[in-house]
Amino acid sequence: MRADREQQPLSYDVRLPEEAQADALRLLDASRMVINAALQRLWPHLDEFMEERKGPAWKHVVELIDSPDPHGDRQWRCEAETAGRILRAQAERKQVFQTIQPLLSDGFIRPKEEKRPAGKNRKSIKEAIEALQKTLEDGDTSFVTMQNVVEQCCNYFFAHDAFPATYEDLQPLPLLKVGLLTYAGDDGGARGQAYRFSVDQETGTATLLFRFPDEQGVWRWRETATVIALPQIVKRRLDGGERLAPTLREHAHPDGSRIAVLDFVVSVPKASLPKFEEVERVLGADWGVRTLLTAVAVDSESQQVGRPFFLDTGSFDGRQARTRRQIDELKAKVPKLEARRDSFPEGDKRREPAIGKLAVLRREIDRCWRKYEARNQALAHLAANVLLLLCSVHGCSLLCMESLKTLKSTGRGRGVRGRWRNYRNNSTIRGGIWRILRYKCHLVGLRFRSERHRDTSHSCPRCGKPAHTYRSQTEREETIKWGRWLWCGDADCGWNGDRDYAAAQNLARLGVAFLTHMQRANKAQAFTMTDPSVNPVSYTGAGAVLLLPPTGPRARPASSGKVYYPGWTRSAFLQSSYPRGTFLRLCG
Ligand SMILES: [Zn+2]
Repeated sequence: MRADREQQPLSYDVRLPEEAQADALRLLDASRMVINAALQRLWPHLDEFMEERKGPAWKHVVELIDSPDPHGDRQWRCEAETAGRILRAQAERKQVFQTIQPLLSDGFIRPKEEKRPAGKNRKSIKEAIEALQKTLEDGDTSFVTMQNVVEQCCNYFFAHDAFPATYEDLQPLPLLKVGLLTYAGDDGGARGQAYRFSVDQETGTATLLFRFPDEQGVWRWRETATVIALPQIVKRRLDGGERLAPTLREHAHPDGSRIAVLDFVVSVPKASLPKFEEVERVLGADWGVRTLLTAVAVDSESQQVGRPFFLDTGSFDGRQARTRRQIDELKAKVPKLEARRDSFPEGDKRREPAIGKLAVLRREIDRCWRKYEARNQALAHLAANVLLLLCSVHGCSLLCMESLKTLKSTGRGRGVRGRWRNYRNNSTIRGGIWRILRYKCHLVGLRFRSERHRDTSHSCPRCGKPAHTYRSQTEREETIKWGRWLWCGDADCGWNGDRDYAAAQNLARLGVAFLTHMQRANKAQAFTMTDPSVNPVSYTGAGAVLLLPPTGPRARPASSGKVYYPGWTRSAFLQSSYPRGTFLRLCG
């Protein structure tokens, strides 16, 4: 589904009740075979999906082929829609491939050294993409996509000793590995021919009827409708949004068990973005070295508004590290049990205890991973929401964020494995925050801009001159690239402070320079730290912001109109100047 200018689709998955599981999974298996067969036949015609074309994807597909295994016209349309969406997405990637193909060069590959296998030269990849991007209009999204395609090309190089000549060389046929079926090809309400679906807002339930193949492979309707209780968040979304056709999806666990879930898709209106001349303040936010995020609000005169905000994730990191250790310990038991199982021949009864224990172990590992990922997700939402709240508190309508960088080895040299892990985990969370912010800014009507990292943490926010960082406030003998304290190199200025704080101010300065240029010349331009139009930030301490409590990894649901943020050690009640509906929406 493609997001349009005014609407934004949001999706929420709900596990189907037990009584419908077996039939739904059989339906998903049957559709997966049809979708994969269709993909196989259409893959040589990928170019047909490259042209910009309005309307549903199934129309595109059914013009080209008939169902590989017909079992109902509308059922086929739904399968065709699923296949068509995959092909459209691949066609977009193919376009990206064609853009970056001329760039592919040996320079992207770091040759094999004595002790180190060949690898990617990330620096030259980044430079090449940035240079290419200057000639294109799109923003950071395409940077990430391009980088992703370039990396895939490099992986191809390692396997084949040459870069791919065509996209089809690079990309294997993207077959579905697990079941997925969107119902968007059918009308779906009372008269649907593949499914019937209705929502009762009063009782907070949905009813679903669907066609499926029975155990003998005969297609028929289910006799009674499946009743699904709607989660609070879906009910709330449905109040202000339009319900789109749901998607049926299979979720496979590592131990081989599977469940069917239904994705509720709701299209909600995007808030209109403020005009640039109306933007008065900018929130600059930096991915910190010590803290996850640091944010500073600055007005158009480059006057800092309020105190800086630091989002520290100390206790969170500790818990995540403990869960990772737990996963490692559990994983270490797997080979031993496998060896015990394999010490007896196939079919031997003595294999069974080990087989049983392995299943339990795999479930436990899976449970730990889910806990780990759920915590990351909760933290990403929390951090994104806090930034949006800070924008609201300070009246900022432009959020200027440091763009996502490739992984940096801040923790590696220290030889502390846990720290390195946390850092890696932080980069996963950052990706999450970034994505969440992109869509949430549209929900609340905020301008979002990401600035490429240009020495923001090695420039003085007061005078703009290059600055060094040191281990701490008192240890100035040796400059340390990742040191936490920044000291201005200019003797007359002498500004010093937390490096993340300085970086956040510098990001806000870049944002203000961008904004001012936009207001004057009505043209987008990115500035560098040394540009004279990037003004220093001054701060008088006026308008201090509310201080928020530290974070912890507890999740609490929203209830009784109060909003509890998952992530606080104790739930905190936050108020904001956003309308209540908008505010609640942010919390989903
Ligand atoms: Zn200075």
